[in-house]
Amino acid sequence: MSLASTQKLFAVIATVALAACAGGSGGGAEQTPSFSVQGVNVFVETSAAFAKAPDFPSRLESTIDAALRYWGGSWSALDGMSLTLVDEPTVPCEGVEALGCFEGGAIHLTTRDPGLGTFACVEETVLVHEIGHAAIGDPNHTDPRWMEMDSLATELGGREGYTSLGEVPCTTYVSVWRHPLGSP
Ligand SMILES: [Zn+2]
Repeated sequence: MSLASTQKLFAVIATVALAACAGGSGGGAEQTPSFSVQGVNVFVETSAAFAKAPDFPSRLESTIDAALRYWGGSWSALDGMSLTLVDEPTVPCEGVEALGCFEGGAIHLTTRDPGLGTFACVEETVLVHEIGHAAIGDPNHTDPRWMEMDSLATELGGREGYTSLGEVPCTTYVSVWRHPLGSP
């Protein structure tokens, strides 16, 4: 492993503490979504290249679908939910800054990682983690599945990613999705 990749690995691990959280109340202003997938209203407020790629709606749909199968959730439970992707490196969540947040029937996700930079694909974001909260709640992460997800990473791995310079591999990092059990 090169020094560069070692540093990258540490950067990925460092993001775990920030990873994600779930909250209770919240709300958002009424806006027109960029598009919708199966009743989920998607707001693209990021400049990340993957969000402009023609396959983005289908990638989002297949990623959510895989996450729902992992968590045992259903699309009907997400009907009317909003999903917002932003450029800012973190999103506010229950008084802390996180990479993603499920709060008040809405998911907010950053498209950047403190160590990795701009994500190359939606599969690299913490979307699958937040879908977990939408599906099972569990804001304190007591379900052992929060520390697993290898099967999900395998299922979602190997797809195409996008940067402003062209296509790159879409590499899923299960450490970004995990959360220590028993902590909010
Ligand atoms: Zn969480």
